[in-house]
Amino acid sequence: MTPEEKKKEIKMEDVRAKAEEKKCPVQKSLVFVEEFLAGPMCGKCFPCSLGSYEARIRIKKFIEGTATEEDIATLKRIASNMIETSRCKKGKDTAKFIMENMDSNEYTEHLSSNCSSKECRNLIKYIIVPEQCTMCGICQDVCKDNAIIGEKRKPYLSGYPPFEIVQKRCTKCGECIKVCPYNAIELKSSKEMAEKESVGA
Ligand code: SF4
Ligand code: SF4
Ligand code: SF4
Repeated sequence: MTPEEKKKEIKMEDVRAKAEEKKCPVQKSLVFVEEFLAGPMCGKCFPCSLGSYEARIRIKKFIEGTATEEDIATLKRIASNMIETSRCKKGKDTAKFIMENMDSNEYTEHLSSNCSSKECRNLIKYIIVPEQCTMCGICQDVCKDNAIIGEKRKPYLSGYPPFEIVQKRCTKCGECIKVCPYNAIELKSSKEMAEKESVGA
């Protein structure tokens, strides 16, 4: 390894620290695997190099909301294979990290579109609570995607409907929730939304 390459090499403790910044166990695993693939993984042995790429594909499916029960079993199989057969500690530690995070119920929760930490964008929605919206228009001004519809209320005039977020246009950037002075914007998991809709139906 050249001195430049050595300088660039990411340490496993840095990989873990970066992953631990996330709250969602699935997101933690993805950050860990991506950082591992970007630096400490040398590709010298087959179970680790193939396993970590395969693990990344499976973990992404949970984040995107397309995973199935079979992906849980496959991910466990990949990780245990890496633990047993990877040549060095780095590969084993990566697999152990995935396994540790699979101990929580979150992987199963993601199968039903629920990310409890609300970090997986495909599994969350920003919504405006009509009863709390004063039609001030501040959120609309910060939404770069023109996803918020509504007309600013004019003083002394009535008959204005609350603002609404057009889900198809929303990129889940989270800017609107930061600026609403009335806490009228909420972040919901897709599961909570489905439950709400079924109660309202
Ligand atoms: S287990 Fe170690 S030696 Fe094998 S590919 Fe991974 S980092 Fe390289
Ligand atoms: S900032 Fe809040 S109160 Fe104002 S329009 Fe948007 S959601 Fe309604
Ligand atoms: S989350 Fe971002 S894109 Fe979605 S409505 Fe709010 S500001 Fe617009």
